Amino acid sequence: MTIEHFDVVVVGAGISGIGAGRHLQTRCPERTYVILEGRTHIGGTWDLFRYPGVRSDSDMYTLGYSFKPWTGAKSIADGPSILDYLHETATENGIDEHIRFGHHVNAASWDSATARWTVEAAHEGKRVRITCHFLFMCSGYYDYAKGYTPDFKGTGRFKGKIVHPQCWPQDLDYAGKRVVVIGSGATAVTLVPELAKTAGQVIMLQRSPTYVISRPAEDRFANGLRRWLPPMLAYGIVRWRNVLLQMWIFNLARARPERVKKKLLDLVRGHLGPNYDVATHFTPRYNPWEQRLCLVPDADLFEAIRAGSAGVVTDRIDTFTEKGILLESGKAIEADIIVTATGLNLQFLSGLDTTVDGRKVDFSTTLGYKGMMFSGVPNLASSFGYTNASWTLKADLTCEYVCRLLNHMRATGTAMATPILDDPEVTPEQWVDFSSGYFQRSLHEFPKQGSKLPWKLHQNYARDILLLRYGAVDDGVMAFSKTGIPEEHRA
Ligand SMILES: Cc1cc2nc3c(=O)[nH]c(=O)nc-3n(C[C@H](O)[C@H](O)[C@H](O)COP(=O)(O)OP(=O)(O)OC[C@H]3O[C@@H](n4cnc5c(N)ncnc54)[C@H](O)[C@@H]3O)c2cc1C
Repeated sequence: MTIEHFDVVVVGAGISGIGAGRHLQTRCPERTYVILEGRTHIGGTWDLFRYPGVRSDSDMYTLGYSFKPWTGAKSIADGPSILDYLHETATENGIDEHIRFGHHVNAASWDSATARWTVEAAHEGKRVRITCHFLFMCSGYYDYAKGYTPDFKGTGRFKGKIVHPQCWPQDLDYAGKRVVVIGSGATAVTLVPELAKTAGQVIMLQRSPTYVISRPAEDRFANGLRRWLPPMLAYGIVRWRNVLLQMWIFNLARARPERVKKKLLDLVRGHLGPNYDVATHFTPRYNPWEQRLCLVPDADLFEAIRAGSAGVVTDRIDTFTEKGILLESGKAIEADIIVTATGLNLQFLSGLDTTVDGRKVDFSTTLGYKGMMFSGVPNLASSFGYTNASWTLKADLTCEYVCRLLNHMRATGTAMATPILDDPEVTPEQWVDFSSGYFQRSLHEFPKQGSKLPWKLHQNYARDILLLRYGAVDDGVMAFSKTGIPEEHRA
């Protein structure tokens, strides 16, 4: 069997993988690359999630790519429009010609003697092997096979339908039905107002509240600016305004949580009126931006609550019953459909079985370098976006850095780039400092970040520009060599 070889193998054709294709072909035109995608379509998240009303929860001027202006009227855009944008990016740049669909990558083994990865993928029931110099994981951050559902008691007794938003049945008829949406995150607050348009009754059942903030779906400043300025210039201005605004709010929330909390809750009171129990249903136990803030466009969730077509119940589930849900307070909610908007199962590098020179890599014992490479693991990067801002901001910068690294290796005639941790002052810290349940459930499987640069994750676009776009590639921590990593530095 002949084994194909590429300079770079990209895994995944979502926002990150398509972006990687574009950056590779413009910044490293002499490098060959292939994108291996496990599914049959591009788009990743934006193709997988098909629940009613699916939309972005950050603005498209920062969720869009740096190189392709978002020109849609809506700043908080629906899933199909985002998917169209990704298709357009892939086709107009010829990236689609580099994608191999139906290739689910399971394993990758690095051999220092040849300075190559051998990547193994399952394709139509067969095992396919491809070798490459550099492996770029753009496989997202959660398990595609199944969403997260807590172990609720009595689910087998429920006579209605139980649905997880990650695999929404396209023929699900909820018109006139009583629907309970379990959850209080981005998916729940998206689903509730959308379902409420036709369902008989919609209840958002949450164990504890989340901060919810309304923003206009359409950005009038951005739409106005586009009429006067060339699209790329208008896009750049709005993008930077949004980046700075987001950074300011995040930093303010961390520095003065009480002040931001009061402001957020006042805004909710303004939407729901003085008689609504904001203390119970919209006042979280944590401070703003200790978890992701939930964005709702044009106050649609609050409008649905005010109109009486949706309601919020804050309580704990005791058990599912034949007719619905019995709560710990003793109250019962009847339902025809129960939606478990209870989240994702986080998964690091898609569970890739990785070996370096025959030794299995346990990524949880490695330290992330610049948030994208891992101590002791050569020629492998992964795209992991921001948790406090749009994913694509970091994904774009990650691609830029990977291209700079590849160009540096070409210029210096080196075959291996390995982040080496040999600073005794660096102490490990959690990969992400968010208290959200879905992070906390899985963080032990993730690499750690370090207490100082370049192992420290900034979660700050401006600082990352300095580090990734302009920082030295040969920084004394990244070891470049022709072949072979010293035994003591292997992951
Ligand atoms: C419902 C929802 C809404 C979101 N809204 C926002 C938002 O508004 N703003 C924001 O910043 N973020 C948002 N996110 C986070 C979102 O996932 C990222 O913004 C972004 O889409 C991630 O892109 P990605 O390409 O890195 O990963 P993904 O979109 O997850 O794509 C990964 C791709 O890799 C493929 N893949 C995975 N493993 C393998 C493998 N082993 N072999 C081959 N292929 C593989 C997958 O099939 C998929 O196509 C949202 C997430 C969800 C679930």
